[in-house]
Amino acid sequence: MTYQLHQLTKFCADHRITPKIVFVPSIQAGTALGVALARSGTDWINLRFSTPEDLARDLVEPTFIADGWMPLPKDADLVEFAPILREYLSDPDNVFFKNQPYSQGLLRTIHRTLRALRISGTSPETLLRQRDNHKLRAIAQLYATYQDCLETRRWYDGPDLFVAATDASDRAPKGAVYAILDETSLPGLARQFVRSVAGKNLRRIGRDHYGIPRPGTLAVSALEDVPTLPGPDCQPAGSLFVSTSDPPTIENVELRLCSGPEVEIDRALSRILTEGWPLDDVEIACSSPDLLEDAYGLTRQREIPSTYGAGVSILLTRPGQTVRSVLNWLLSGGDRQWLRALLDGRQLNANLSDANWPEPLVTLSKLQSADTVSTSEVANLCAALLREHVTTLTESEEPARDSLVARLEDLASHCQARGSITSVVGTLMDVVDQHRFDARSPQPGHLNVVPIDRAGFSGRSRLFVIGLDSSLFPGQPGEDPLLLDHERSRISDTLEVLRTRPAAQVWHLVRLLGLSPHAILSASTYRLSDGQESEPASIIHHLANATQKLPEIDPILPSDPEHSPDVSTWKLAWSRQAGDIDAYGTTVPWLTAGSTADRERIERSFTRYKGLTGAVFGDPEGLTWSASRLETLTRCPYRYFWRYVLRIDPPEEETRDTTRWLTPLEFGSLLHELYQLYMADLPDRDQPPSIDTGTNRILSLLDELIDTTTQTIAPPNPLAFKVDVERLRAAARVFVAEESKRPTDQIPRGFEVSFGFDENSGLSSPDPVRLSLGDLTIKLRGLIDRVDETSTGYVIWDYKTGSAFHYDSSDLLGGGQHLQWALYAHAFASMLAEKDAGEKIESGYYFASDREHGRKMLSTPPTRGELGQILKPVLSLAGRGAFPPIQKTSQCRFCDYKAICERDHVLPHSISTDLHPDVDKDLIDTATEWLST
Ligand code: SF4
Repeated sequence: MTYQLHQLTKFCADHRITPKIVFVPSIQAGTALGVALARSGTDWINLRFSTPEDLARDLVEPTFIADGWMPLPKDADLVEFAPILREYLSDPDNVFFKNQPYSQGLLRTIHRTLRALRISGTSPETLLRQRDNHKLRAIAQLYATYQDCLETRRWYDGPDLFVAATDASDRAPKGAVYAILDETSLPGLARQFVRSVAGKNLRRIGRDHYGIPRPGTLAVSALEDVPTLPGPDCQPAGSLFVSTSDPPTIENVELRLCSGPEVEIDRALSRILTEGWPLDDVEIACSSPDLLEDAYGLTRQREIPSTYGAGVSILLTRPGQTVRSVLNWLLSGGDRQWLRALLDGRQLNANLSDANWPEPLVTLSKLQSADTVSTSEVANLCAALLREHVTTLTESEEPARDSLVARLEDLASHCQARGSITSVVGTLMDVVDQHRFDARSPQPGHLNVVPIDRAGFSGRSRLFVIGLDSSLFPGQPGEDPLLLDHERSRISDTLEVLRTRPAAQVWHLVRLLGLSPHAILSASTYRLSDGQESEPASIIHHLANATQKLPEIDPILPSDPEHSPDVSTWKLAWSRQAGDIDAYGTTVPWLTAGSTADRERIERSFTRYKGLTGAVFGDPEGLTWSASRLETLTRCPYRYFWRYVLRIDPPEEETRDTTRWLTPLEFGSLLHELYQLYMADLPDRDQPPSIDTGTNRILSLLDELIDTTTQTIAPPNPLAFKVDVERLRAAARVFVAEESKRPTDQIPRGFEVSFGFDENSGLSSPDPVRLSLGDLTIKLRGLIDRVDETSTGYVIWDYKTGSAFHYDSSDLLGGGQHLQWALYAHAFASMLAEKDAGEKIESGYYFASDREHGRKMLSTPPTRGELGQILKPVLSLAGRGAFPPIQKTSQCRFCDYKAICERDHVLPHSISTDLHPDVDKDLIDTATEWLST
């Protein structure tokens, strides 16, 4: 248990049922402490964790609301202040900022300074009382205008709450006792409030001595006179700088040096996984915002459940990047490359052909030529774009979109500022850049990732502190360029000075060392990415001296493959041991066998590693074939080998395409079912349908089918549903239009006519058909979509709902790639022979979708002998276990097995040369001959 938790436990025990209020730096810290207390078994009845501002809000907010005030929407003051500053800079009487052009940087700097002045309790009059100074006078003037703006809009903020609550501190719970964490921020007005509400009933939770300077605006310094609650000593490493005659023995700290900040995070995550530490036992504290972002990326990539106490930058998410690109598009004067990038990245679900621009983009585009635009309108349009056209998101990205939409809508409904498109967009861009979402308290089963100043409250037993090299930690002392530190000190002793921020970072690290039972500190001393070197921060040197241990160097490659947390690390670990293959071949024979196979597959010979299995598969004539199985074999025997011999199914798409309701397969099945239903129940099948009645009938059938399908396949979003429904309706209309043109002597007679599927009704036959194809006989089963009867015989149709790209009406067989239509024609002829022989049969494909507008390709099938000649060589190869890769780019481009076979391509002419000793020459010749045709 940490000393903080001990102090809290004692506080609760001493005031068991008295109301207790503990001031904490943030809600997340309060929740984390509450959970840690509960886990320690402490009874904490009547205890409340609150930030000073939250307590002030509780005391006085109802009065503000009753008087017609409302809380200041986040960033609304920045937006409203932008035109005020612009106008001020253009005023010829402005002396101090005379040559200063307006910029977003200047706006942010002045706005930050004004907020610091307000929270410190410094008034514009105080600034004016300073000796004659143009700068302070200018700041006072802007400050007064800023306050007027808040007042006019009747917005109250934190400083207003503190002032009112200090006067109303008698409304606090009667008889309450108070404690405050040393880490709680207490700028001027907050300090006055805490002292006024808590009075003498206040105690500090922290340490009396840290051994280093205390940050000026935290309770540890602002309430230095307040006694601390009794508690045990901190962890020994926390006393590093406290001078005692006996230096502490530090055993709970590990020091590590890495090559690159991202390696630091990677090593921390790997360590957690390999050691099997429960995630909710571990916290990672980062010294810089960049490291937090890297940690966010890596934890997501490795799917490690994590909470981020300070939230996540919206720019790391697709919704944030989308809005930023749209704002950049506006700033660039309409350069479409910004939008095209969004489409390419599938971030924007829209069509950018001129007639189909999304409505929000059309309106935004028009705004570009306006003299002035309102921030509210631009924010609203961006929110609408996010809501309606950024729909291709995964579930985990939706909170980011919702959070940004809420922020933009909030600004839109409260801001009145107007300005040129560039200034309005610039300010909104600033708001988006600063926006963070998903700030959450530590959760059970989750790793907690936080900045250093927010770490240590969850009482977790293991703490990683990363980014402790001198370039990042403790950071550079900065100054407010507008109000320098010495000016701030002169104006008010409650105004924060910024040069002490690095010292504050060190203080936070020292308190963390005092809190954590096991701390692992790491620094990056060499960045592999750019070769930059840096020194470990001085605290690492101090700790190395104190522990008498040099920091351990994390090797670039992990040293122990057995404990690697993932495959890539495992591979890296092996690679450092790679050497003579014979040396480890006996230990890991499967690895050397894999290596041999890999080498053989890359080489240009035809071996058992490349489709020539050497196994005898028996008589292909004994199998019952389907047309698609035969087509797979003729298109590429190697593909057949993957699918039907090794039975490797391509992995399913990890995520559904969120721009579509139905996958292409589901879409096609639904249309097949629709056409079957429509045709089977035609009131008068002998006549072509009229377009009007036919369309009404098919659309009503479609509505029913859509309704049933939504019950099993939920649409991912309304837009995707709408798009697919429109496409289905268009296909249905096309189908009826085509049917209305059907020749009157062509009568539909059969639908889904099957053979080999135990169906014995209508034209169907329960048994497979035996087809004699020259000197080859095969057993075939299948399902014919439709059979029409004509005055001279029959026409067989196979509905296609995809593209006709791969089909050629002048060569429907496509060199053996498209066998189905021909096989079905002969199969149907065989079936007829048993019932109604001697008819002429034509066969083909009916592209019954919106895409191909009902195009039909019909032909007289090749003779059975011709079909036999196509199938015989390849069936004979398959029977002898040979499945050569086809190596035709047209086939490989859309092949499901491309990823595992791309490197295996071999040109036919190379097969006969460079023969492997194992292979059968006759087989090679047959394969070469077949591949060459
Ligand atoms: S990638 Fe090409 S060679 Fe490999 S299985 Fe597919 S079609 Fe055949």
